[in-house]
Amino acid sequence: MKTAKEYEQSLRELNLEVYMFGERLDNVVDNPIIRPSMNAVAKTYEMAWKPEYEDIMTATSHLTGKKINRFTHIHQSTEDLLKKTKMGRLMGSHTGCCFQRCVGTDSLNALSMTTLAIDNVHGTLYNKRFIEYLKFIQEEDLTCDGAMTDPKGDRSLPPHKQADPDLYLRVIEEKTDGIIVRGAKAHQTGAVNSHEIIVMPTIALKAEDRDYAVSFALPSDAEGIRYIMGRQSCDLRKAEGGNLDQGNLFFGGHEALVIFDDVFVPWERIFMYKEYEFAGHLVERFASYHRQSYACKAGVGDVLIGAAQTIAEYNGAEKASHIKDKIIEMNHLNETLYCGSIACAAEGHEEPSGTYLVNTLLANVCKQNVTRFPYEISRLAQDIAGGLMVTLPSEKDFRSPEIGKWMEKYFKGKADIPTEDRLRILRLIENITLGTAAVGYLTESMHGAGSPQAQRIMISRLVNLNEKKKLAQKLCGIHKED
Ligand code: SF4
Ligand code: FE
Repeated sequence: MKTAKEYEQSLRELNLEVYMFGERLDNVVDNPIIRPSMNAVAKTYEMAWKPEYEDIMTATSHLTGKKINRFTHIHQSTEDLLKKTKMGRLMGSHTGCCFQRCVGTDSLNALSMTTLAIDNVHGTLYNKRFIEYLKFIQEEDLTCDGAMTDPKGDRSLPPHKQADPDLYLRVIEEKTDGIIVRGAKAHQTGAVNSHEIIVMPTIALKAEDRDYAVSFALPSDAEGIRYIMGRQSCDLRKAEGGNLDQGNLFFGGHEALVIFDDVFVPWERIFMYKEYEFAGHLVERFASYHRQSYACKAGVGDVLIGAAQTIAEYNGAEKASHIKDKIIEMNHLNETLYCGSIACAAEGHEEPSGTYLVNTLLANVCKQNVTRFPYEISRLAQDIAGGLMVTLPSEKDFRSPEIGKWMEKYFKGKADIPTEDRLRILRLIENITLGTAAVGYLTESMHGAGSPQAQRIMISRLVNLNEKKKLAQKLCGIHKED
């Protein structure tokens, strides 16, 4: 396993083509706006070395028998699935943001099943290739970007009917030693903190779209791959050089648009090639795992609830019955999020490849809750925090020799609490509910791993309504069989 330092060093050795604010970055790792997101991924390496978290953060490779970081593990039991949920919550609670590495884990696990399913029908050797690739990932302890979401263009049209055929990533040329692909993947979480990019189709595909049915893995700095960093609300605060206004002083997340500008992929890195009927198989498995992964939000919720309780105490309001009740409600919602992730893991099952898959219905219910509850938890946190969270002047004003004293005096809460501490906790709540971390805690909760409607479609497909009707009809004498 890599240490956090080794991980950081390994990123320095990559030659990524990253753009931000219209310019190419020559140092990605030390860029102040990107750095907190690198710190969050580095934490997944650091935590794996701590004896107290060893059981959750590490696993034994089913391929080599070696101890590996759980983020590179293929789930071998429901126990493994449960530990993955616990790892997500633990990491969310230690970083207060999206720590990005789960997308790779979920891609690897999904591919471990889909490659075998394709081989069984087509006599291909994708699973063997994939296992070799997996050994490399585990051995080197790499972070992978699981790249699924295409730009999608006109949502009413399939890929081949788009005015611009590149709006879904596709194969444009076949060569003797590999293929050339063109397209883009949008909203890629943790892309520039990753060593590898694992590309998958974004929707189930039909025969006319066979050129879009492609899955492969490439080093993140492969020739022709370009990154354009997404902006986040309040992102420039990280570049201001202070240590208060950014709220979370250490960690953050990031998303990027990843462009594949006619990129070569060698055959040994390809896990699906035009077997269009398996695109949906891969998408559904990845989505189910990633919907489970949103236990991370319960971890961020832990931080937000802690912040809300802290500000209530700093304001001298913590004994008010309505404040106590709001904190209870926040906890209730947060634990309900956790319940969904635990439940789909506990009800997991073994697939033909030996990989354990979560219960898909419960994973979708889990994620459907995630599209709602963090918004309500945030609303309650903002209610408890009060308006100062958004009217607070800057750290520079607070540090100013001329005017800082007025902030010190008039932003005081309880007499024994330093004003600065009160400002710090307010900035953290702002960060999670309105600032850079709100990308992960709110909008990503809404759209990550599929927007709310995607889960509702899955729920409608997976529940057995006829069985439920029979149950009801039997009890009232309509349906007379046993
Ligand atoms: Fe992992 Fe959560 Fe970030 Fe998705 S949103 S990558 S599950 S931390
Ligand atoms: Fe996500």
